[in-house]
Amino acid sequence: MSEVEKVKCLIIGSGPAGYTAAIYAARADMSPVLYQGMQPGGQLTTTNEVENFPGYPEGVTGPDMMVQLEAQAKRFETDIRFGFIDKVDFSGDVHKCWAEDGKEIHADTVIISTGASAKYLGLESEQLYLKNGGGVSACAVCDGFFYRGQETVIVGAGDSACEEAHYLSKLCTKVTMLVRRDEFRASKIMADRVKNTENIEILFNTETDEVLGDGQVVTGVRAKNNKTGELIEIPCTGFFVAIGHKPNTDIFKDYINLDETGYIEYEEPGTSKTNVPGVFVAGDAADKTYRQAVTAAGTGCMAALDAERYLAAKGH
Ligand code: NDP
Repeated sequence: MSEVEKVKCLIIGSGPAGYTAAIYAARADMSPVLYQGMQPGGQLTTTNEVENFPGYPEGVTGPDMMVQLEAQAKRFETDIRFGFIDKVDFSGDVHKCWAEDGKEIHADTVIISTGASAKYLGLESEQLYLKNGGGVSACAVCDGFFYRGQETVIVGAGDSACEEAHYLSKLCTKVTMLVRRDEFRASKIMADRVKNTENIEILFNTETDEVLGDGQVVTGVRAKNNKTGELIEIPCTGFFVAIGHKPNTDIFKDYINLDETGYIEYEEPGTSKTNVPGVFVAGDAADKTYRQAVTAAGTGCMAALDAERYLAAKGH
C-alpha cells in the first residue's frame, strides 16, 4: 500500500471556487494540493464567452479563463493534480481522502469545490450545439445576452426555468417555454410571472424532439405534443435547458449535512463552514441560487480564509 500523504489543505475541484481557494491558501503558506476532478476547469469549460466576470472588459472564453486561473494558482505553487477524490472519511480528527488511484491523503483542512452539473436532455443534437458553442446553453444569465433581439426556446418548468425565461424575455423578442406536463413545478409566484409576460409563450405537454441547426448553429427546435403526438418546428437561435442541476456531493453524504436536493448546507451562515470542523465548502456545491463564476470565486476566497483561521486556532 502506498504511503499516506499528509497535507495542510486539500482542495477538491477546479472551477473558479477551487482555483481561487488555491490562490489564497497558497499565498497563506498552506501548500494546498488541488485535485482537478472529472472536468478540469468545471462548468465554465462548457461556456463560450464570459462577459460578466469583472476585470475582463473584452470578455474571455470559459476555457481561457480557467487556464488563467490555473496558472495563477500554480504561480504560488499550488500542487495541482489531474485526477479526482472518490472517497472520504470525515469521522475522525484527521480528514481522510482517497484519490481514484488509491492514494490516501490525510488533510488538516479540506475545501470542497466540486460544483454542480447542469442536467441536459441527452439528445445528440443538443450535445452537438452545446459542445461547439452553437446555441445551446444551461445558463441564461451567462449566455442570454448573445441572443438579444432574437427568438429563444427554453425547456423546464421549475423555478430556475421560470427565472431564466423571465430573464430572457427582457432580452429576446420571443421566448417559447416547453413544459412537459400540463402544469409548472415552479412556485406559483414564479409561474405567474412567466404567464403574465407578454413575449413568453408556454407550450404545455410539450417535449423537445430535436434541436435543429445547420451543423454549426441552432436554427430551431422540433417539439412534440406528448398528448396528441403533433410535431411543430419553432424557429430560434438559442436553446436553453433549465431542467435542474445536480450538485457533485455524493461522496460526502455520509459525513456532511446536505439539503434534500444534495447541496451542502452551511453550518454557520456567512461563512464557508460545514458541519465538520476543518471542512469548508465553496462554489456551486453549496449554491443553488446564484451559481455564477464570480460568486464561486468569492466563496473560494472565504473558504481559504476560514481554513487558514481554523489552522491558526489549532496552533498550526
Ligand atoms: P427543479 O428540479 O425544481 O425543476 C426541474 C424542472 O425540469 C421540472 O419542471 C421538470 O419537469 C423539468 N424536467 C426535468 N427533466 C426534464 C426533461 N427531460 N424534459 C423536460 N423537462 C424536464 O429544478 P430547478 O433548477 O428549477 O430548481 C432547483 C431548486 O432550486 C428548487 O428547489 C427551486 O425551488 C430552487 N430555486 C429557487 C429559485 C428562487 O426561489 N428564486 C430560483 C431557482 C431555483 P417536471 O415538473 O415534469 O418534473
